[in-house]
Amino acid sequence: MSFASFAELTLSPRLQQTLRELGYAQPTPIQARAIPTILAGRDLMAGAQTGTGKTAAFVLPLLELLMQQPRDESLRPIRALVLVPTRELTVQVFDSVARYGQGTGLTSALVYGGVSIAAQVDALKAGVDLLIATPGRLLDHLRQGALSLGSLRHLVFDEADRMLDMGFMDEITALLRQIPADRQTLLFSATCDDNLFALSRVLLRDPELIEVAPRNTTAAEIEQRVYAVDGDRKLALITHLLKVKGYVPALVFSRTRQGADQLAQQLGKAGINALAFHGDLSQGAREKVLLAFRAGTLQALVATDVAARGLDISDLNHVINMEFPFVAEDYVHRIGRTGRAGNKGLAITLFSPEDAPLLEKVEAVLDTRLPQQWFPGFEPDLSRFEPQPRRSSKAAQKQRARKQALGGNSAKAGKAKR
Ligand code: AMP
Repeated sequence: MSFASFAELTLSPRLQQTLRELGYAQPTPIQARAIPTILAGRDLMAGAQTGTGKTAAFVLPLLELLMQQPRDESLRPIRALVLVPTRELTVQVFDSVARYGQGTGLTSALVYGGVSIAAQVDALKAGVDLLIATPGRLLDHLRQGALSLGSLRHLVFDEADRMLDMGFMDEITALLRQIPADRQTLLFSATCDDNLFALSRVLLRDPELIEVAPRNTTAAEIEQRVYAVDGDRKLALITHLLKVKGYVPALVFSRTRQGADQLAQQLGKAGINALAFHGDLSQGAREKVLLAFRAGTLQALVATDVAARGLDISDLNHVINMEFPFVAEDYVHRIGRTGRAGNKGLAITLFSPEDAPLLEKVEAVLDTRLPQQWFPGFEPDLSRFEPQPRRSSKAAQKQRARKQALGGNSAKAGKAKR
């Protein structure tokens, strides 16, 4: 399936230029569906998780609408409000607004608890078009009379399910009393349960419902294989898979930019037409590489996770992971590149024993076992390949993964520039 371009979504040239500079070639599925709805002024309920491009899905059309509306430069009342559950998310959304909004002349600010209120009040005095806030601190500001929401036209709930989980319902109710009823409301949530539907009935008028495939489920038509292989034979095996088995064109994943560059070069030496695709490339270079891949002149595109986000390449049948990603959800994202639009996809991961904890995390996220196989002729040297102790049960496996996710930042520890 291929999605509309940003131009087709009728975003202004200013925003389109920013997106080009950021290297966003195409809208992600949630963006392709949410942007036209929001621009048309409709309410929206969207089921979308982090990593789907959901932030840009509401920030871009909001910026567009704010730019189009006549504004009073001297007063600058708050016209758009994004409510988020946590301080971290406030900062993330604020950064996105700054990134996408460069050159628009629009202003934004953020308010969250746990820091001095005075500095935030100063920032608000200058007037802001778009405010990002956690509910509790926003109420404090309203009680102090530091701001008014009387001119608000657009209200967004980001990660609404977490907001409910964290017990923000009372604050939300109090806030709604100070917000004009005649407004556009957008509700974004990773999960949609009964509580959320109850909230949506209070908040939304005739909303459009959008659900994009959650990241942690994989389409049934993707065959997943894990080949156990010695680290120093991975290059030989992937060369064999591409050249002899004919698994081309393939999207090959590397954990780091340097790794992607090196692998693309090595494959080139082995006679495979391969190019790297990552964040160090200029916009022009990225477009050229993508064009070549889409045109079928490349046999392998060697990408990092971040660069591959939002890539929509149709008719992709093969994804090959040189190793498991550090972040388990990235695995789901990677293999989701294949098996689209009814095609059967094949996702191969080359596995060496030191990646056993990563395999375990991926299995916990997928809630399924990924049995290791040997590829004939590339069997691991068993004197080096220590059998890994397998967990006793799925529950233990999940518990361990959860502990790792909550406790130490083991996933981040090994992360290089992606
Ligand atoms: P989010 O789901 O909002 O957390 O976004 C996940 C990541 O995808 C962010 O790092 C964005 O910069 C990136 N992203 C969002 N939209 C696109 C796009 N259309 N093309 C490429 N990357 C994107």
